[in-house]
Amino acid sequence: MTDLRIERVETVLLDVPLRRPHRFARTEMNAQPVLLVFLYTRGGAVGVGEGVVPAGPWWGGESVETMALVVERYFTPILLGRRVDDVAGILRDLGDAVAANLYAKTAVEVALHDAWARSLGVPVHTLLGGLARRSVPVTWALGTDPAPAVVDEALAKLDSGMHTSFKLKMGAQDPAADVARIRSVAEKLVGVASVRVDLNARWDLLTSLTHLPRLADAGVDLVEQPVPGAEVEALAEINRALPIPVMADESLRTPGDALRLARLRAADVYSLKTTKSGGLRATRAIAEVAAAAGIPCHAGTSIESPVGTAASLQLACTAPSVTWGSELFGPLLMTEELLTTPLRYADGELHLPDGPGLGIELDLAAVRRLRRS
Ligand code: MN
Repeated sequence: MTDLRIERVETVLLDVPLRRPHRFARTEMNAQPVLLVFLYTRGGAVGVGEGVVPAGPWWGGESVETMALVVERYFTPILLGRRVDDVAGILRDLGDAVAANLYAKTAVEVALHDAWARSLGVPVHTLLGGLARRSVPVTWALGTDPAPAVVDEALAKLDSGMHTSFKLKMGAQDPAADVARIRSVAEKLVGVASVRVDLNARWDLLTSLTHLPRLADAGVDLVEQPVPGAEVEALAEINRALPIPVMADESLRTPGDALRLARLRAADVYSLKTTKSGGLRATRAIAEVAAAAGIPCHAGTSIESPVGTAASLQLACTAPSVTWGSELFGPLLMTEELLTTPLRYADGELHLPDGPGLGIELDLAAVRRLRRS
């Protein structure tokens, strides 16, 4: 039996350039900072996990810099000498040492699964109980440009056959102007593509109840997280008022959140992210609460590199309730693949790679090139 004990923990910070700036309501990025956490076992297996947030600490308070510090200073002493299959025990001890910091915990939790699976010579999905599917559809995020540019980008993506649904970020401008912009995009796309919007928690209840019905009228299919994460009662009121589904993202980080949202019927769809929830197992638990409540799930992204995307894909392929596709487009935004064999996007879907662990092999030359000095 190979020795599963951890003998070394390494953190590597990368800045991965993007093909075009990616905008959110209050920030934008030209490169995505990524923390890679490597776990080396005495038996010679190496596991990797990614710590990543969407364009800095605005979303959840963590950044790659805080994650590196937490992993190096507080998690590494707990990890050294432990077996990589001691996942439940290690996660309990990480939680006892550090509250919250779920993005940092994800990097470690995914690396544990990768190292454990590679030690056994099996894919990560085997450790999660096997596959419900082998690929997921991929929605494209169109950002916050004026309507004509956004429509052109969407039509080019439709022509490429790669995407048939689009998500538009909102919340960067005055609500009435923002709604007018989305309506003029929807006018061109509804009927040929699915159009969804993400408010990233920028509006309040009254603004939402005033303006969101006009988006539903225009053919928008789904509204993601209009109000702040903690305001789940307001989210429930909006969900009751709208004829189209509301998706929870900022309101959903833990299995407890999933239960509370289900009891309030605050969202018709859950956005799962391995990154925001502390890893594969917590995200799987959320998917199972959703399944029990009859709520479908969508595989969301924090703009992960191919490493974190592979982890989210492994999870999405094991959870039967992930019936609303994905937005696992992070690698498509990046100029560098980071892998020896790229993830396969084809026929509108991201396909699960074969192979042990996460099913990927890092391109170490690319990792060196992008390493922050
Ligand atoms: Mn979101």
